[in-house]
Amino acid sequence: MTEKIDFRSMTPEELVEYLATLGEPKYRAVQLFSKLQNGTPLMEISNLSLKLRAMLSERELDTLPRVEKKLVSRIDGTVKYLFRLYDGECIESVFMRYKHGNTLCISSQVGCRMGCRFCASTLAGRVRNLLPSELVGQIIAAELDTGERISNVVMMGIGEPLDNYDNVIKFLMLVNHPDGLNIGYRHISLSTCGVVPRIYELAEVDIPITLSISLHAATDERRSEIMPVNNKWGIDELLSACVAYYKKTGRRISFEYTLIHGKNDSDKDALALANLLTLAFKGTGAPIHVNLIRVNEVRETGFRHGTQESANRFSDILNRNGCVATVRRRLGSDVNAACGQLRRSTANNE
Ligand code: SAH
Repeated sequence: MTEKIDFRSMTPEELVEYLATLGEPKYRAVQLFSKLQNGTPLMEISNLSLKLRAMLSERELDTLPRVEKKLVSRIDGTVKYLFRLYDGECIESVFMRYKHGNTLCISSQVGCRMGCRFCASTLAGRVRNLLPSELVGQIIAAELDTGERISNVVMMGIGEPLDNYDNVIKFLMLVNHPDGLNIGYRHISLSTCGVVPRIYELAEVDIPITLSISLHAATDERRSEIMPVNNKWGIDELLSACVAYYKKTGRRISFEYTLIHGKNDSDKDALALANLLTLAFKGTGAPIHVNLIRVNEVRETGFRHGTQESANRFSDILNRNGCVATVRRRLGSDVNAACGQLRRSTANNE
């Protein structure tokens, strides 16, 4: 049997080339691309001849994620999806409604190998990278299921996007394409635990997404304790990369800081964080945004969250010291919306 082809991972240019080998004209490739990107099954693309449809669908590796489980929050309507992939693996995506539009939080890998101590996604390591078609496929599948358009995407689900760099870059090109989902780069954020060389690379490609850095501690000692990646690239190196990214792209960076009770959430920690960031960005004119989130308790990790009041207090200290801090709302807390817990509970039951 010949190897199956993942058409949905292909750009219009690549489809032009492929269809040319079948003697098909260029405009067919554009039609095919836009139908693939809205999830139309190949056999239903009525502007292609039946013969072509049959030929393509026989060769296709259809990687569109299938809804395996769906939990809808009674509190805020957030939808948590467990998607089944073509090879049987599972990932999660979360659909959230905001005033400014619908946002989908997508996964970038099956599992993760970064080892952050508080995170459920990394407990069993990394299984594989997601394909570009599976990255965009999460959005397509969620739009098909909800019947609503998704205008914002955050790469904050399972996995480390910069550990799947090539596929993520390709995905960004696909999802931004005017004949595809046409989601603007400014409506996409990518969150990373700090894979420093890739931050420099990302600064060089002309893809003005919003970069989010999972910082979670203000000293190397503390950060290395909870995030092994810090042993490879320390805070100084990470922040230098952030400054370079800002200078090159003019895009502001936001910092994620998960508040873990008794670990990184004291007044002293808040002040250290404010000093660290203001010093790093001194003279660049960059506004400093910090998103605070109380840690989601994952049974296996033993970390606890503090009170809402202590989060507010932490936020006030940042705001008084040169940062713009917000305490994130916890959407979908009744549907296990956070961080790989649904995939994990499914895997444990199988
Ligand atoms: N690997 C990327 C993106 C996925 S994690 C990254 O590290 O940024 C998305 C965000 O959720 C990160 O900021 C991560 O640190 C945070 N996170 C992971 N587990 C968490 C938990 N149990 N509670 C709160 N935030 C968590």
